[in-house]
Parts: sequence; C-alpha cells; structure tokens
Amino acid sequence: NAHYDVVPVAGEWRFGNPFSGEIDGEWLYGRGADDMKDAIAALLFAIQAVQKTDTEPKFNVECSFTCDEETGGELGAGYVVEAGLVNADYIVNCEGGSKLNIGNGHNGVLWLEIEVKGKAAHGANPDNGINAFEKTAELVTALQRVKRNLKLPERAFRLLDGSDRYPTLNIGGTFRGTDGDKVNTVPANVTFSIDRRITPNEELAFAELELREAISGACQYYPDLEAEARAILRIEPCLTDTDSPIAQAFAEAVRIVRFNQPKFKGTTGFTDLHYFVNTGLPGIGYGPSGEGGHAINERVNIPDLVRTSTIYATFMTRAEL
Ligand SMILES: [Zn+2]
Repeated sequence: NAHYDVVPVAGEWRFGNPFSGEIDGEWLYGRGADDMKDAIAALLFAIQAVQKTDTEPKFNVECSFTCDEETGGELGAGYVVEAGLVNADYIVNCEGGSKLNIGNGHNGVLWLEIEVKGKAAHGANPDNGINAFEKTAELVTALQRVKRNLKLPERAFRLLDGSDRYPTLNIGGTFRGTDGDKVNTVPANVTFSIDRRITPNEELAFAELELREAISGACQYYPDLEAEARAILRIEPCLTDTDSPIAQAFAEAVRIVRFNQPKFKGTTGFTDLHYFVNTGLPGIGYGPSGEGGHAINERVNIPDLVRTSTIYATFMTRAEL
C-alpha cells in the first residue's frame, strides 16, 4: 500500500513550481517526492521489472494506492480494509522505514479539541462573569498531572535497542479565545487542542478514557469549570513481531540488496500501516529515502529510490512466506 495524497505547499521553492519534479544531481524535488509518490514509483518499477524479465513472483501481489493518509486515512486505506477489498496475508506499507531501518509499527494518536465555557461580563465587574481563560488554566493544571503520570516507569514501551519510549501529551497546539475578545471583557470561551501519542503497549480507548476522566474530575473539583472534549482524530498504534515471516523475509530482501543487516524500528509518527496490522495482517513499513517531507524543497534520493525498487522486486521474487 502507498498513499498518493500530499500536504499543501507553502513558501519559496528552489525551482519555483513545487510540482515541477525538477532533478538536480541525485535528487528529485517536489511536493510528494518523498511523502510518498517516490514509493509508488518504486513499487511500479518493481512490478514492471518482474513482468519484463518474465520472473515468477513467489506469491500474488496486490497493490492499493490510496488517498487521505495525511488527514488520517479513514477514507483511503481505512476504507479499503473496512470494505473487505484486501485479500492479502501480509502487508508492506511503502513508508515508515528506509535504508537499513524497517518499520515494524508506529505510535497511535488521539487529538481532542477542548472547549471551556465561561460567561461574558464587563471587565469593570468581572465577578458577574465566569472567566473561561482562568478556568482553562485550572483545567490545564489538572491535565499536567496526567502528563506527569505518562513518565512513570510502568508506562514505558521498551524498544528493541533497549531504550524506553514514553507516551506523550502536547497541550494547546492550537489555542483560541472568544470571538471579539477585548481587554475589558471577561472571556466567555476558550478552545484548545490536545495531542496524545499512544505507544504500542497502550490502547487508544484507555488513553481517551484517562483524559476524559481527568477533564470531568477537574470540572467537579473546580467551581464553575465547564469543559467539553471532542475527538478530532483517532489512530490506533500497531506492532508487528520481528520474528514473523513477513518481517524476516523483508529483512532478507533488504540485506541482499544493501549488503547489510537491517534493523527493526517502530516510528513515533503514524502511517496507514495500522489499518492492515490491526485487522490481523502482519506487516512492515519500508520505502525510499528522502528529505523535507511536509516541508519546503521536499526531495527524494533517486539512487535510493532505485535501490528500494530493487528490494521490492527481490522480495516479490525470492521471499519464502
Ligand atoms: Zn506519508
């Protein structure tokens, strides 16, 4: 699976048009060059190579090119899985690993939008109102307790290299006050976001419950605090056993092409991989290596794209699954 949607462009690009696909030396520039039209090219080249050389693949190859990944993937990979269109036993998601790193999972995400409701009043008589900004400060204090608890040793996810990864909480990435707010008005409304990253040893539902309980607990504890939480994105974490046939077979293909033993690594950012893995298809993430994904002057390394294509073809024609 690979996604063909891209994030919007902004800023001054080195070659002007961010969709020109300009080539300079080993690099091809453009929005989507790395995330992830490079992977679509690598996969199509691999299939073409297998066809043109009349090589018999070791298994049926089923490709899905989907959209919507950059905004959660529910309408793309999520739909393809949900509608039962996938007949595969294993999944290679063509991003989430590169070079000598194979992605065997990723963190999940929960985005909440919290609205704190107060009551407007004249700034000369603030006691007649409920200050939504001050109420937000109380709520944030309560949420920071949740944040501290995420650093407890028992919350850690042990990585393959022996280091620990902890769940995280980012409060207030987006923040806005009341429309028409003024110095002499008691603010009636505050809206802010929560970005909770869920490690593969956690469950999204538990993370959401923990936050919602903290919010309702704070509302009971602090007088006049009224807050409403709305989920705007839910992505489950996922993890594939590194001893599984797909992980081992793909690692062997990487080793053959790159002459080096690859490592497995779960990413903190999410991909579409979880849609497949969490319905029972073990899988990994791997694609060409580039730079500047989601940024200005996004580019892919062409020799690495070709090498990745060779790895896909090697995997299709040599893997014993
Ligand atoms: Zn992507």
